[in-house]
This record gives sequence, structure tokens and C-alpha cells, in this order.
Amino acid sequence: NRRLVLAAHPRGLPTEDDFRLETAPVPGPGEGQVLLRTLFLSIDPYMRNLMDQAGPGYAPPVPLGGTMPGGTISRVVASRHPGFQSGALVQANAGWQDYALSDGSDLVPVDGLARPSLALGGLGMPGFTAYVGLLDIGQPRAGETVVVAAATGAVGAVAGQLARLHGARVVGIAGGADKCRHAVEVLGFDACIDHRAPDFRTRLAAACADGIDVYFENVGGAVLDAVLPLLNPHARIPLCGFIAHYDQDGPAAGRDRRPALLATLLSKRVRMQGFIILDHYASRFAAFRRDMEPWVGEGRIVLVEDVVDGLEQAPAALAGLLQGRNLGKLVVKVAE
Ligand code: NDP
Repeated sequence: NRRLVLAAHPRGLPTEDDFRLETAPVPGPGEGQVLLRTLFLSIDPYMRNLMDQAGPGYAPPVPLGGTMPGGTISRVVASRHPGFQSGALVQANAGWQDYALSDGSDLVPVDGLARPSLALGGLGMPGFTAYVGLLDIGQPRAGETVVVAAATGAVGAVAGQLARLHGARVVGIAGGADKCRHAVEVLGFDACIDHRAPDFRTRLAAACADGIDVYFENVGGAVLDAVLPLLNPHARIPLCGFIAHYDQDGPAAGRDRRPALLATLLSKRVRMQGFIILDHYASRFAAFRRDMEPWVGEGRIVLVEDVVDGLEQAPAALAGLLQGRNLGKLVVKVAE
């Protein structure tokens, strides 16, 4: 059994040296357990937060020497659990390894999906994050302008398409001309602005001539700075993530931007609400799947995956995600 463990707490962007590949015999399932073979491993931004010594607060940090955690699509290859037969395909939390044991309590059968890996993306945690953040917190109305950061990523691509489906005008923000073209041509956004372009702020202002009513925040940093002056009175900001700062080591350089943020929120009566998606499964996941499956089936929402081959590529894939190298939901294909 190959597994990737945390070798060191990263300073800034994670490097190969922060991980160690270990090999151990494949374990056998005890009474009431199943043995899982990992087929797909989800790579998500929160993994970077779990590598810090202090952790993010909403989940325990990975200890040094601990296997990197992660959502997976796995096959049951041996079972001593009455609820799971050998051969079954399940969604699991096997982490960054070839094989894992489970007592079944965290397993969800995967059936009826064209691509099982979608249960890690648009039909799973990231898609659900977009749904709760945009619809429950953002509450876009027809004709309003919705701006989505990290627009072509796992969460952003779904958030933007949901906003369009609800009649809003959607402006994405993404890194590079290719991603922006993808947002408009494939995902159906009304416009998409490259946050790396030198005239980013002017172009964003031009694309949001009526101001911004909902800003789906995934990023922070310079993207948030450019959005703030464009917010309309009573704008809503679902605070989903702030990935521009996850690798930040120590306080930011430069002028203190807190007063500008607070003045904008106050004077424009903006509602900014953070959320952790784990809180919403019991009340909203069933509704999400009931709505999303037909939208995806009818092609009204397009789900794009970025598939990397081989467990040993997972560290580079996570570093790439933090630098914007992925297009769509990033997954590692571990086995056939
Ligand atoms: P993505 O697929 O969107 O990948 C991350 C993207 O972030 C990159 O592709 C890159 O896109 C963008 N990015 C990285 N660094 C920067 C930067 N400095 N400035 C601007 N953009 C940057 O990841 P996910 O869809 O999985 O996650 C999106 C966000 O949602 C993250 O912040 C994540 O932490 C958050 N999240 C929150 C959850 C919650 O419960 N609150 C649950 C799940 C996710 P580009 O090339 O376009 O810049």
C-alpha cells in the first residue's frame, strides 16, 4: 500500500519535500470493516490549510507522519461488513493512498452517475458548496449582476452557471485568457475578466456597469480589492474561501487594507457571510442532488474535470491548484 504522508509543514507553497511516499503491506479488513481500493482522489484547497501546524480551525490539522486526508471514489475489494459487497463503488474518505480500511459509516454508494468522479466535483462537495453559497447566502435575483472569483474552478464554475440559471448576469474572474474564454464559451458566463491582466480593474469595472449585487468570494487578495468599489448597496458576499492567502507566511506587506474593507461593508450595508459546507449536508444535500442531477443531465450545467494520472502526482497537483494550473475540478486517477 503506497501512501503519501505529511513530512513537514510547508512554508508558503507546498513542495515535494513536504510529503513522503511510504509503502506498507495492504491491510486486511477486520470484522465489520471493508478494504477499499482508491480509484479517484479529490484534490481540494482545504488540504493546504490542513498541512499547517495550527490548522484552519474547522478541522484537525494533519500530524507530521500522518496520511494526507481526502475524499475518494473507491472500490470495495474485500468486505466483512454486511452492508457492502465486494465490487461495490463508493464515495469514501480514504485519503492519499492506494488502499484504506473503513467501518462503513462514512461510505456513500455511487450509482447512476455517468462518471463516478463527478461525486467528488460538481455533484459532490464543491458543487454543493456553490449551491449553498450562491443560492442560500447570495440569493441572486433575475437581472442582478453576480461576480464569481476563481470562475473556472470546481466551485466557481458551478456557482456561475447556477447564477445564470436563476436569471442573473454573470461576470467571472479567472487567471489567463484561456480560462476566461472557457468561462464564456463553455460555461456560458456573460463575461470573464483576467485577474492577471494589467488593466484588470478597469476591465472589471467596464464589465459591471450596473455595479455588483452578489460577489462569490473564493480568492481575497487583489481580486477582492478590485471588487470592493463596485459593490452596490445591499450587496451579498458569500465568503467561501480566500485562496490567495493560504500560502501566505506571516502578515501581508503594504498598506493596511482593513479600513477600506470595513468602510465599504458598512457604508454600502453589505452582508458578508462565511460558511463551512460540512454544516449544510443534513438540511440541504438532498435538495442539491435533486436539483443538480437533471440540470447536469440536460446539459444546462456543464461539469469540467481536470484529471491527473497517478497517486505520486498528488503533491504536484495540489501545488498546481494553489497556482491556478487546474481547469475545472482537479482529481487524481489512482487506479482503473
Ligand atoms: P479551484 O478549482 O477553484 O482551484 C483553485 C483556483 O484558485 C485556481 O485554479 C486559481 O484560479 C485560483 N487562485 C489561486 N490562487 C489565486 C490568487 N492568488 N488569486 C486569484 N485566484 C487564485 O478550487 P475549488 O473550487 O475547490 O475551491 C475554490 C474556493 O472555495 C477555495 O477558496 C476553497 O478554499 C473554497 N472552498 C470552501 C468551502 C467551504 O466550505 N467554505 C468548500 C470547498 C471549497 P485562477 O487561475 O482563475 O486564478
